Order: sequence, then structure tokens, then C-alpha cells
Amino acid sequence: MKMRLSVSLLFVGSLVFSMGACKKSASAKEADWTMYGRTNDEQRFSPLNQINEQNVGQLGLVWSHELGTTRGLEATPLVSNGVIYTTGEWSVAYALDATGEILWTFDPKVPRARARFICCDVVNRGLALYHDKVFLGTLDGRLIALDAKTGKPVWDVVTVDQSKSYAITGAPRIAKGLVLIGNAGSEFGVRGFVSAYDAETGKLVWRTFTVPGDPSRGFESKALEEAAKTWHGQYWITGGGGTPWDSIVYDPDLDLVYAGTGNGTAWYRDLRSPGGGDNLYLASIIALRASDGELMWHFQVTPGESWDYDATQPLMLADLKIDGATRKVVMQASKNGFFYLLDRQNGQFISAKPFVNGITWASGIDPKTGRPEESPSAYDGLRAVLVSPSPDGAHNWYPMAFDPSTGLVYVPGREGSTMLHAPDKDWTYNPKLWNRGEDDAYDGPLFRRLLAAPPVTGRLIAWNPVEQREAWSVTLPVVESGGVLATGGNLVFQGRSDGMFCAYRATDGKRLWEFDAGTGIMAPPVTYLVGGVQYLTLMVGWGGAAGLIHPPGGGPSKPGFGRVLTFAIGGNGKLDVPRFGHQGPPSPAISTNATPATVHTGEVLFGKYCFYCHGVNAVAGSGIPDLRYATAETHHQFESIVLGGVRESRGMPSFGDVLKREQLPAIQAYILSRAAAAANTPSNKAP
Ligand code: CA
Repeated sequence: MKMRLSVSLLFVGSLVFSMGACKKSASAKEADWTMYGRTNDEQRFSPLNQINEQNVGQLGLVWSHELGTTRGLEATPLVSNGVIYTTGEWSVAYALDATGEILWTFDPKVPRARARFICCDVVNRGLALYHDKVFLGTLDGRLIALDAKTGKPVWDVVTVDQSKSYAITGAPRIAKGLVLIGNAGSEFGVRGFVSAYDAETGKLVWRTFTVPGDPSRGFESKALEEAAKTWHGQYWITGGGGTPWDSIVYDPDLDLVYAGTGNGTAWYRDLRSPGGGDNLYLASIIALRASDGELMWHFQVTPGESWDYDATQPLMLADLKIDGATRKVVMQASKNGFFYLLDRQNGQFISAKPFVNGITWASGIDPKTGRPEESPSAYDGLRAVLVSPSPDGAHNWYPMAFDPSTGLVYVPGREGSTMLHAPDKDWTYNPKLWNRGEDDAYDGPLFRRLLAAPPVTGRLIAWNPVEQREAWSVTLPVVESGGVLATGGNLVFQGRSDGMFCAYRATDGKRLWEFDAGTGIMAPPVTYLVGGVQYLTLMVGWGGAAGLIHPPGGGPSKPGFGRVLTFAIGGNGKLDVPRFGHQGPPSPAISTNATPATVHTGEVLFGKYCFYCHGVNAVAGSGIPDLRYATAETHHQFESIVLGGVRESRGMPSFGDVLKREQLPAIQAYILSRAAAAANTPSNKAP
């Protein structure tokens, strides 16, 4: 569906042309956005300055293209020669022209049953572009090369063992003719790796695992043999985890590929590796030789990781002057709350400081080694603890941006999140389920303390990486704010869960412009030139992990139909955003005489099988059905839906292999109790 707006491109073009006539014309390199982070260093800085702090007030919508999707959109669009390449839900790829008309759509037809094995919505963060092809990673673990002109597949390879719970949500990257791709699935139990495929042929050139495998089968490398010394027990049975599910960056000068690795399986080290150990290379930044994938160095951000502190957040490269010398650094605002600077030539630790307040898991970082000083309160064997940040992290996958002229990194941050970690001492690996190792039935005293924890604050933080201090920050009215773009116009752009898309002055954070997109925003904007005119393009669509944790009613976030929005100076388009979702509180569709004990049993089962799509406390985000609103018909068909898989084509997989018929009434009783609770709560808020 395409919305036609009143401003013609021609008009905008002539307006800006007259304004920008005195400026030197931008090079083709500056005009386009052809990589995930615009350039190999992933600074997400565009030198374009037609849109700047003086005229950003006249920025407006030029066109909007509705994708007909209702799930989370996280992609960074790529733009080359006036063509926009992007992705939506279920790994669908799109090409649009500069006026928002669809040129082609490619649906890889991911089997909907895969939804069982995806932690955080059916999202995709975008494509890679190389010569005449674009490259797409899919939820079912494929890597597909598409003809950039037609969207027709050129090659299509399976990059994972599809019998296991692997998924791909991250964007591929390019390193000298190789397509690099990672994978996700540590919450379920897989062994993480980075693969490199020949861009022309789709042939696997190298594969580097991030954690050791079964020693009896021999180690793939010396590095993995070394890593195995930091593990205990039969860690390989679950796969171990360490999935590099988001950040992969290539430095052509050093010929190194950097990747961030995820948490382990299970989350808790006493379950995962009885006897402890650092468990290399979980929660680490690793550097691989681009030609063969050999591990050149590693830095473990969170040794013995036990809090879901993936180190997969965006890695950014820069050359910074530190103590009088220019250092080639790699930077990360890590989930664990510390901002890291490493020498990217050798992995040497330079510095780390907390970029949010209230971190409790570590009291600091050893200034020589970079090793965190873990707090005694952060881990107590298999006893429950309250820890900040929560697995949402102080920063997650939302890309940050760097403006070389201000020297500041702009980080989408979260402050004050707390998690109750209650390890399940009876946990055993089940490949058909989540394997976090959490006790879903924990109901002890810390649970009440968690409910009393102060609210989480969303902040856009301008961080001086050289001095490791905050230059300025903006406290946001919502917890979740999306990816960031910095431009030569002294501007920083960022969208939020409440649908507001804002521009701030890069030097001091003054808000200069805002636009109500009507639908929650997670994805980062990009900017580019077409016909000499600077445009901004952004995907809007609420969902992802944030949609589960911060659903509508549980905070000011707006689900809605996914869109591609494009802005320019002089645009004056209006968005007519239809109301989305349920109006008014739910009410129980059928009556139940379940006992509180049955409801509690249902709550535990819901926490084990249902919440990671249908939401925390049965409050769903994005377009996934909120079960509190389930109709009587749905309740009557519950068994055929949950066990029989009759709605699989709509994305609801069968749980017939793990749930029993006699367990369903308890789940229904819990859902109905949540509907009843919401009906009695005028604000319709999650507890
Ligand atoms: Ca994780």
C-alpha cells in the first residue's frame, strides 16, 4: 500500500537545489548508504549537511510506504543510486525506488513453525550490498544472494544445522568478496559461529566457532583448544552458546573481522559449566583474520557470563587521539553497562567506564586488564539474585552513531533495569525448549523486591569515548529508543517506542525537530542524496524483544502497521495512521472455575512456553495476538491451535511435542485471569 502525499519530489528537489547550490557537490560515496553502518567503520555518520541545525525545522515527510506488516521492523535500509533495499518481518526483502514505489519483493518463505525457535520476534536487521547483488540472512538460517536489479535469487545456501534452534536476524557484512554471516539461538542451545561465503558462488570459504565443541572429536583450532580449558563438564551437549547474532565489522586496513558473541547456554555458569571458568569465547569481542577466519585476538567483556550480557552490541571502529597518540580503536557500549575501548590491532584493553548509573553486577573494571570486578551480590551459585542491568541491557542492538567533529558517540541507553535471576537447580537440557536455566516457578522474596524496583529510564547519551565520560544526555519519556544517525548538519536523529522521530543538535542535545510516526520505532534512520537532494529514510514498526517487555499498556509504546518513511526539507506530508489493536480493556471470553493453584501452574507454563511471543504477563506487543483478548472460539479451539498447529500458517507453531493436553486448561485459566485482572484495571497496565 502506497500513500501518496502532497509534496512532489520535483518541488522538494528544486527547493533544496537552490539552497545547496553554493555547497560543493557530494561524491558518490557520500551520496549513498551502501553498508549496514554506512562505512566499514560503522560510525553511522553521514557528512551530508543540506539538512542541518538551521533548517531541520522544515524537515517533513515526502512519502510513506506501508508494508502491510505488524511485527517489529529493525532494518537499516541500504541506498545505492536511488534504490532503497531493506527488509521486514519474516526475512522478507524489498527494493523501492526513490519515490517509494516497490521495485521488487523477495519472500524467502521461512517456515512459520520456526517461530518456536526465535527468541525475539521475526525480525531482520537488513541486507548487505556487493556489486550487483544483495545478501539476505533468514530466520531459518539461510543466506541468499539476490540480483539487486530483479530481486531474483542467484544462490541460496543453508548456513546452519536446521535441526537445531539457530536463527539469523542480523545483517550480513562484506569483506573482500566474502559475505560474512552470524547466527542466534544461545537461549535455546546452539553453538555459535561466523561463516564466510564467496559472494559470487555462495561457496563456504571459512567457518569459525566461537565456543569449543566436544573434545573427543578434536578441536577445530588451537584457539578453541585454549578456550576449552576455561569450561567444565559436558558443556558441548547444549552447544554452549556464544552466538554472534548482530555485530560483525570488517577493517580493510588491518584485514580483520570483528564480531561480538552472545551469552552461554544455559545462562548460569554453574549449570553450564559446573566448576566455573570464564567460558571463552562467550560474551566477547573477537577478531578474525578475514582470509581464513583464524582467531587473532579476543577480549572477554563479561567473564563467566551469567546475566544474559551478550557482547553483540554494535562494534564501531575509529582512530582516536588518546594520550597524544592516535589509536585504532574498536568501541562498544555493552549490554553490561560499560563503554569499552580496545586497540583493534591487538585487542589490548584501553579503557572502560559505566555509561549508565545503577550497575550492580560489577563494581568496576581493572584498569590494566579490563577484567570486571564482579560484585559478590551478582552471583550466588544457584540461589536467586537481583542484578542490574537486566537482560534488556544498558544498550542492546540499537545502533549507535559517532560524529567525528564532536568526537561523541551517541548511544541509545537504558538506565535502572533490574532482573531477578533465579537459576533452576533441576534444569536439564531440552533441545525443543528455551534453555536459559531459569526457574520459571520462582516465587520467593526477591520477586516482591523486583516488583518494587524503580522504573527504567530511557536516555540518549552523548559519550566522549576518549575521556570516558558523558558529554550530555537526554532523558526520554519512554524506555525504548531506537538506532541513531549522526550527520554533518550537526544533527543526531533517533526514533522512539512512542512513535516520535526526533532530531537533536549533536553538540549539546537540544531537540530541534520531531515528527509523530504514529507507530513505535526501533530501527535507525539513514540519509543519502538522490538528484542532489538529501533525504532521510526510516523503518517504523514496533515489536522485537522490546515489544515483549514494553508492550502497549505496559508503557508508552505504539504497535502499528510497518512503514518505510522518507523525509526531506520542505516535505509536508501527513501520516494518517489507523488505530491499531484493541480498544479498551479485555474481558474473559469464557468463564473458568480454576483454583489459584491452577492459575499459578498456568502462569509457570506460560512463562516456559508462551511469553516469548505473547508477552510478559500475557500482554503482547507488536502484532502478535494478545491472548487476554482471545475469543470464546479461540478458547474452544485451544487444543487444536496449541497442540494441533492449525494456525501454523499464521505464525503459531504447534507445541504438541512438549505440552500435554491436560496442561492446557491451566494455561487458559492463567490467560483468563490476566484478562479479568486487566478488565478491573482502568489504565489497562501490566502489573
Ligand atoms: Ca541473549
